[in-house]
Amino acid sequence: MNTKSIFAAATLAIAFLLTPSITQAHNHGPDGEKSGVMTKDSQDKLTSDAALNDLMEGNKRFVANRPDKLDLPAQVKATATGQYPKAVILSCIDSRVPVEMVFDQGIGDVFVARVAGNTEDESVLGSMEYATAVAGSKLVMVLGHEACGAVKAGIDKFEAGENVAHLLGAIEPAIEKVKGDRNSSDKKYVEEVIKVNVQETIDDIRERSPIMAGLEKEGKIKIVGAYYNLHTGEVSLLD
Ligand SMILES: [Zn+2]
Repeated sequence: MNTKSIFAAATLAIAFLLTPSITQAHNHGPDGEKSGVMTKDSQDKLTSDAALNDLMEGNKRFVANRPDKLDLPAQVKATATGQYPKAVILSCIDSRVPVEMVFDQGIGDVFVARVAGNTEDESVLGSMEYATAVAGSKLVMVLGHEACGAVKAGIDKFEAGENVAHLLGAIEPAIEKVKGDRNSSDKKYVEEVIKVNVQETIDDIRERSPIMAGLEKEGKIKIVGAYYNLHTGEVSLLD
C-alpha cells in the first residue's frame, strides 16, 4: 500500500467516524443549534416507539421552556429536496395548540393535519395515508385538547349552516357515547367527550383506511391518541 492509498484509506475512515450516527438525525451548529433534519436513513431506522418517544421528549422540553435551538434557515435548505417526517399528527385547529411547538419539532419532522374537533374525513384519511404509506412516517397521533370549542359546539348543537353541521356531525357519535347530561359547561363531561372523540377518530381511521390498518398490523406504524392540557402545555397519552 503506497502513501497515497494509505492517506485515502485514512481519510475514508475519518469521514466514516465523522458521519453522524443514523439515529442522530440532528447536527449541531456552532452555537449549539440543531441544523440537521430527518433523512431517509434516519427515518428508515426509526421505530414507531422511538418516534412516539421523540414527540413526548419534545413535549417535556416545551413544558420546561427548554426547546431545542433550531437553525431554521439551515433546516429549510436541508429539506428543500425531500422530506422524511417521523409522524403524522391530526390535531384541532385551536390556536392554543401549535403542534410543532408543543412537541418541539423542526422543519421536516412531522406532518400535521388540522381540523376543528380532530375528526377524520376522506381528505384527512388520504393525507394520513400519504404520510404513512408513501412518505414513510412511523406514527399516527390523534391529538385532542382541553376545552375544545368544536366539541362544546357539538354538545350545544350549535347551528351555523351545513358546513358546520358536517363538522359537528363527525363529533356527534362521541357525544352520544358519553353518559350524562349534554352540558358544555360541565368540564368533566366535556373532557370525557373530548377523549372519547379521540378514540372514535382512531377507531374510524382503522375502519375506514385499510391502508393504515394494514400498516399497523404489519407493525410498520402505530396509531395513538393523546390529550393536550391547555393549562400546563402537557400532552398525555390516552389508552
Ligand atoms: Zn379544539
